[in-house]
Amino acid sequence: MTDEAGNALLRLTLRVEHDIFLVRQRGREVAAAVGLDHQDQVRIATALSEVARDLLACCGGADVTFATVGHPDGRFSLQIDLAPVRPLPDGVYQPQSGAVARLVDVLSVTTVGEVTVVRMSRRAPASASEPDPQRLAELRSELEHAAPGTALEELTTQNDQLIAALDEVRSQRDELAVLNEELETTNRGVMALYNQLTEELEATNQGVVALYAELDEKSAQLRAASESKSRFLANVSHELRAPVTAIIGLGRLLADSGSDPLTTEQTRQVDLIRSSAADLLSLVNELLDLAKAESGRIEPNWSEVDLRVLFGQLRGTVRALATRPEVALTVEEPPQPSVVRTDEVLLAQVLRNLLHNALKFTEQGEVRMRAEGRDGRWELSVTDTGVGIAPELHERIFEEFYQVPGTSRFNGTGLGLPYARRLVTLLGGTLELSSESGRGSRFTVVLPAGGA
Ligand code: ADP
Repeated sequence: MTDEAGNALLRLTLRVEHDIFLVRQRGREVAAAVGLDHQDQVRIATALSEVARDLLACCGGADVTFATVGHPDGRFSLQIDLAPVRPLPDGVYQPQSGAVARLVDVLSVTTVGEVTVVRMSRRAPASASEPDPQRLAELRSELEHAAPGTALEELTTQNDQLIAALDEVRSQRDELAVLNEELETTNRGVMALYNQLTEELEATNQGVVALYAELDEKSAQLRAASESKSRFLANVSHELRAPVTAIIGLGRLLADSGSDPLTTEQTRQVDLIRSSAADLLSLVNELLDLAKAESGRIEPNWSEVDLRVLFGQLRGTVRALATRPEVALTVEEPPQPSVVRTDEVLLAQVLRNLLHNALKFTEQGEVRMRAEGRDGRWELSVTDTGVGIAPELHERIFEEFYQVPGTSRFNGTGLGLPYARRLVTLLGGTLELSSESGRGSRFTVVLPAGGA
């Protein structure tokens, strides 16, 4: 018999108070027989006795049917229908105890055929399999022949179950207490870790602050050292200039045709003294210039400078330095409009220095100066086909007194480029270099067209 009501296992009638015990007891037995675990047996029995009590009070009792109902997933439920003797008031079933519904999976009012029943059901565990017809028949006969216990027996069972439930509650409470304690220990651990981290962070912070303070102190010392170096250079150069100028003057006097005639050897030596003194004077002058630039005592004199005019002047003055016939000097005409806001004297000094170097370090080929205006900037470049500079030395040649090894034969001080770079920075620009050893060099002054 398979219908909505499932495979019936047992039917009972509930008419008097005593039947409640019976229904309860049988409920537990049926639940055990179909494989529900102990807790579910107690749940079913308890829910059943509650509903039975309600139906006895409202409807004069009920006919109780136990059945199994299969599900599509292969599992099954134990289903209990209680058909009230008299109809439910307003067709509604409201359990006296709200907790009843929580004991089972389903507690509802439903209609089987023409009869309205209160239905409850509980799913069997996955391990239990739905009884086949033969097993059903066995179960039916077992249940029918089982001698019903007395009310006292059922009360004892109920008490045992209550004690077991209380025990379980207690053990759960103990477990919870242990968990709580573990949680607290973990919390304390986390807090300790947090505190430790905070301390470490603070210590690191203090270290960083101390490091910064040290750094500040060191850079102040560095600034002071650099200032005293500039002061020293300025003073020494200044003090040297007068005697060196005097030596040059005296040499000139000695070599003058109005003075007593000198022997050939004396003339050679006086010439040597004069040229050495002239070299020394130019070194002293360059040192003075650099010291002045470093101490920030050079104030650019800003004006609108026409590059065409400036290039024209340089073309004239530098031509005298281009003494090698194998080297062609080309100063291109800057494109129009060729105006830049800058300091004419300082810019001329820089370009002259670059042209001078280019001519000095180029033995054949070409030295070319040109101007290009792009994106609000002017690029003034001096390109040569000379000895070139290895890339790893591109920054070093801007250091004071640095000269590329092997170039000292070209005469110089190693102060021209550091000075030029200082001046270009003062003019709000940059001095860039692109060069390779043996393949010529290009020095480019990049200036903002509108000035610094
Ligand atoms: P100086 O020319 O008086 O030696 P600078 O500061 O002007 O000093 O230049 C530093 C060094 O850079 C030079 O000694 C030279 O080795 C290198 N240098 C500068 N300009 C050029 C160039 N156009 N070609 C090759 N080397 C150069």
